[in-house]
Amino acid sequence: MKLIKYNLYNIWNQMTDMAHKCGRNPQEITLLAVSKNHSITAIKEAISAGQYSFGENYVQEGVEKIKILANPLLLWHFIGRVQSNKSRLISEYFDWCHTVSCYRIAHLLNKYRSCDQKPLNVLIQINISYEETKAGILLEDLPALVRDMNHFPRLKLRGLMAIPKEPKNNNSPVMEYQRLKNAFNQLKDDYPDLDTLSLGMSRDINDAIICGSTMVRIGTSIFGKRH
Ligand SMILES: *Cc1c(COP(=O)(O)O)cnc(C)c1O
Repeated sequence: MKLIKYNLYNIWNQMTDMAHKCGRNPQEITLLAVSKNHSITAIKEAISAGQYSFGENYVQEGVEKIKILANPLLLWHFIGRVQSNKSRLISEYFDWCHTVSCYRIAHLLNKYRSCDQKPLNVLIQINISYEETKAGILLEDLPALVRDMNHFPRLKLRGLMAIPKEPKNNNSPVMEYQRLKNAFNQLKDDYPDLDTLSLGMSRDINDAIICGSTMVRIGTSIFGKRH
């Protein structure tokens, strides 16, 4: 079974082609392999192909994999909804959290991040499609939360993240992505250290790269359908 390896090669190629097509440097775009619901064996196969960044949605499942693999070269990204009672485990085990969307959660993640660890890399999740059911803050509320992040020395704000609406009759997320990209660029005027725009899944990786994504979160195209 070499499938995962070939899937990864295909995606790396696709990312490189797409970056060149829109005049971007492929090196500024990271592939995050979303391994939720996939086995340790599958993750090991990805590692042996050279993939080191993995994304997990469920705290328990992620922590278990992190402990079993116990590989200091790996970078683990939490991309699920943060529940306050799980924030301690996220801070203790993960390297990144993509889904910070309020002061309270940021406060907890900061509190539990030990001084022996590097600061936890965080992204603020934006609800770009104004969906009531979706996590994340509205763009209007972004400046205030970014300012609040100054209170949290154990967190390092790296940028923004969004999940687009389920596409209906082929509408593309490009308009929403552009709006996010503009907000990100504006923010970078004041905070030049920000370097990460986490956008794009299997179905819209090309659109995401066109719109400035620096980190695509890909599950299905690497590991196949989740069971
Ligand atoms: C599951 C998931 C992904 C990966 O989605 P695929 O369609 O399998 O590529 C990306 N981002 C988030 C937040 C997810 O929950």
